[in-house]
Amino acid sequence: MRLLLSNDDGILARGLAALERAASPLGEVYVVAPDREQSATSHSLTMHHPLRPVQISERRWQVDGTPTDCVMLALEALLPERPDFVLSGVNHGPNMGEDVLYSGTVAAAMEGLALGVPAVAFSFAGSVLRADALLDEHVSTIERILRHLMSLPAFPASTLLNVNIPPIAADAVKGVRLTRLGRRVYSESLTKMKDPWGRPIYWIGGGSVSWQGSTADSDFQAIADGYVSVTPLHLDLTNTDILNTAEQWWRPL
Ligand code: MN
Repeated sequence: MRLLLSNDDGILARGLAALERAASPLGEVYVVAPDREQSATSHSLTMHHPLRPVQISERRWQVDGTPTDCVMLALEALLPERPDFVLSGVNHGPNMGEDVLYSGTVAAAMEGLALGVPAVAFSFAGSVLRADALLDEHVSTIERILRHLMSLPAFPASTLLNVNIPPIAADAVKGVRLTRLGRRVYSESLTKMKDPWGRPIYWIGGGSVSWQGSTADSDFQAIADGYVSVTPLHLDLTNTDILNTAEQWWRPL
């Protein structure tokens, strides 16, 4: 089993180290990760300057690019053979609901899937400080999930799994729940401040998050209930509901 690991918090991140520890007993682990934090870079590609991978050890590279750059470079240039899985994370923070549109962690997994490799994104669904305190003990949680996924006779095709780990002690986790993406509502996510010269600046982030239309099978509800949330995602953004009613929809024209 050959496993490619990447992330969006940078190659030195504690979450990546936790994922490496969980994945190492299962196969040959390759790491190709950004040289610095690239959170919320979504699926961006670096096209206006070259990428310069630095090989740190036999199976480890840092790249001056985005998570998507890393996975593309790994699959098309750095790895001797294609990996069996692309694993991304563990992100220091949740990736639930609309977060997946901004997340570099999920994008790295998506790039794997886009290039035909099954992929799993892992996120710790709590604050960065909680992640620092609890990530180590969740290595066993992640290892158990990986062992299960790799033992499946067929990993679901055209699907990436978006896994969120609840911000509670590992032995308090109640189990795994298959979920759908929830809907979040951010309030005051833009903070107006002053720079040292008194000019107005805006900092995106912070504020509080609440969730809309709390459905029992949503990712955030699973996390709130103390379960690991596993949401199957695919790349096709087509709105099938509208497509099914398209004839009616176009009639006035
Ligand atoms: Mn991140």
